[in-house]
Amino acid sequence: MDYDFVIIGAGVIGLACAEKISKLGHSCLVIERNPGFGWETSSRNSEVIHAGIYYPQNSLKAKLCVSGNRSIYEWCVKYDIPHRRIGKFIIAVDENEEFEVEQIFENAKRNGVDGIRKVSLFDFEKAEPNIKAKSAIFSKDTGIIDSHKFMASLEELAKKSGTDFAYKHKVVNIEKSNQGYELEIIDPFGENCRISANYIINAAGLDCDTISELAGINVDKACYRLQYCRGHYFKLNSAKRNMVNHLIYPVPNKSLSGLGIHVTIDMAGDLKLGPDTEFLTERTQDYTVNEHLKQKFYDAAQRYIPTLDLEDIQPDQAGIRPKLKAEKGEFRDFIIKEESDKGLPRLINLIGIESPGLTASLAIAEEVRTLI
Ligand SMILES: Cc1cc2nc3c(=O)[nH]c(=O)nc-3n(C[C@H](O)[C@H](O)[C@H](O)COP(=O)(O)OP(=O)(O)OC[C@H]3O[C@@H](n4cnc5c(N)ncnc54)[C@H](O)[C@@H]3O)c2cc1C
Repeated sequence: MDYDFVIIGAGVIGLACAEKISKLGHSCLVIERNPGFGWETSSRNSEVIHAGIYYPQNSLKAKLCVSGNRSIYEWCVKYDIPHRRIGKFIIAVDENEEFEVEQIFENAKRNGVDGIRKVSLFDFEKAEPNIKAKSAIFSKDTGIIDSHKFMASLEELAKKSGTDFAYKHKVVNIEKSNQGYELEIIDPFGENCRISANYIINAAGLDCDTISELAGINVDKACYRLQYCRGHYFKLNSAKRNMVNHLIYPVPNKSLSGLGIHVTIDMAGDLKLGPDTEFLTERTQDYTVNEHLKQKFYDAAQRYIPTLDLEDIQPDQAGIRPKLKAEKGEFRDFIIKEESDKGLPRLINLIGIESPGLTASLAIAEEVRTLI
């Protein structure tokens, strides 16, 4: 056996698992097709530390977001990772949305979210004089993080505990062996090589379903099939960077496919609008932000930032959500599962790890630890 554990994918989830597992003394290899960590979804997100407000009670998303929120702040303090507990307002822009904001508040309470409270309109307008709202709630534990430095700290600690990293290597096949698994890998020179492992952790993000299929799982039957959902961002001109002081979120759509076009602030203090939701018919990693989306972003944001001008916003980045297919738009939870019941013992699948995956990363790694 070459390794106790092979982790497929060096996004934030694979890195968090590597750090956790190697600390327990297991030999561990992370295989990643890109030249470094976090080249895909983990570097194309809002970098928001969520509080766990919206997700259904008892879902993994709710549970792991709430515990992951606490763990990630502790980590940031311990390892000196730049972050800000900046706080977020969820607002009702008109009367029709007031009931929904109330329901979001109740849901947050059910999920055990700390630090969420109703605010008076007077206090809200004092905090955010440029934002129009009918009512608002405030989450003080929603924040922002330098996700690159966070991932770098995970990689460094995993390496210190003995994890090996094979960048520019792609997993192309998985076979079950007597003791575990044989993985076929293409190296940077296009050559095939083989590695054996006792455990496999599938943290392959946008290809988590492909990896499951390589291991022999009927992905459609297991309901593991992904549908890519792109989220675009527009940034505000730097002259407007002081017009918002906290993260501002309108009410999301019912299916939670996205949280509505909201305002985020990054660690450099720049303001961004987004992400929106665009379900893709093809499985390509196309990160184009089309200029024609500008009017949609403007209309959405102008509802609550009345002084915004069309010229204030410019196309920025995009990311792709690894969404589990939901035929009727129903809520789909994270899947974190050891696959003995499919005849694949010691294969741990992490499927559909979309938002709040960054926030929940340390809690997800802890959940994986309980499965080994
Ligand atoms: C638009 C957007 C906004 C978001 N905002 C937030 C937010 O504000 N807060 C939050 O908590 N979460 C947010 N998220 C979610 C968060 O970004 C993800 O949950 C998280 O990054 C997922 O990490 P991952 O490691 O699972 O996936 P990835 O980062 O995609 O990593 C998977 C890795 O697996 C590798 N891989 C795949 N197949 C193979 C193979 N065959 N061989 C080798 N390597 C392979 C890939 O190259 C990739 O690097 C957002 C997501 C999106 C798309």
